[in-house]
Amino acid sequence: MIRNIIKKAKTEDNLDKNELLQLFKIEYAEDLIELMQAAYDVRNSHNNAIKLTSTVHLTNICQVTPKCKYCGFAARTSLDGYYHPFFKEDREILDAVKCVEKSGIPRVSCSGAHGYFGFQAVNAAKIVKENTSLELLVNVGADLTVKALKELYKYDTDTVCCNLETVNQSLFSEVKPGEKLEDRIKTCEKISSQGIELSSGLLIGLGESYQDRVNHLLFLKKFPCLGEIPIMGFNPYKNTPMENHPPCSLLEQVKTIAITRLMFPHVRITVPTPTIGPKNVKYSLIAGADNVATVIPEDYPSVVKGVGSPTYGNLKDVVGVVQELGLNLES
Ligand code: SF4
Repeated sequence: MIRNIIKKAKTEDNLDKNELLQLFKIEYAEDLIELMQAAYDVRNSHNNAIKLTSTVHLTNICQVTPKCKYCGFAARTSLDGYYHPFFKEDREILDAVKCVEKSGIPRVSCSGAHGYFGFQAVNAAKIVKENTSLELLVNVGADLTVKALKELYKYDTDTVCCNLETVNQSLFSEVKPGEKLEDRIKTCEKISSQGIELSSGLLIGLGESYQDRVNHLLFLKKFPCLGEIPIMGFNPYKNTPMENHPPCSLLEQVKTIAITRLMFPHVRITVPTPTIGPKNVKYSLIAGADNVATVIPEDYPSVVKGVGSPTYGNLKDVVGVVQELGLNLES
């Protein structure tokens, strides 16, 4: 039965809810290998060049109250995170993006905490686009006005990210008590209606069901400008209310990546190195991902703590993994 579903997905026929659920419920290793092989083939038939994305964290001073229960990024949330408050100056942003450009990484993500109505994102876009030829994603969640989006468009921002994390309403409210799911959905709609490429992803392992993941992936299909889906596995950050919640297994992450690839053959699927773990990047690529994020060059000028976990992927190591798999790097 699993084989028939995978065969159907490979011909780019839309799978129904039940078929998608069956894929999430895969139990046997041979079925999982077949799923990953199918996703790998689908990715390669459309694009066998892997994109790398570096990062600049703009500020960790977040006005969301109470803080998201898993957050180790905002100031004073985790001793393993940044902990001390910062707001990067223009010169620091410029030095970081110049370093990224020099390293050969083609794309940068500028992300930051909430409470600035998108000003932090617009300022970063201006610096990146006026001083480098980098492709740019900005991510300040739902902290975006239409005015800010128009400014981002004006600066040729390539992609704006607003992760829904989960579409399970009660789980969202439980783990993100300071935010509303509907605000994030409205932000995704606003990004799409401005004609800017939308990135919107899943944070998995929070306690959602397989049905929640299926509902979430199907929900994303309604955004016409959807161009990217980050798949992020939960990792507990020390000192946070979720520090004892189990981490999302590698198996769940690769399965979700592979199913997402079969559902969205043409969409960029992003795996941040902190959430999958730098040593596991190769499995995400085998499962059909085509963008590795939070890739940091050796001479990066500031300290980086990954969003989702304090670790991150070093450029040399990630390039080594891509080459080992015989895949091409997007230049
Ligand atoms: S996850 Fe983002 S929105 Fe939530 S508290 Fe942390 S920085 Fe703020």
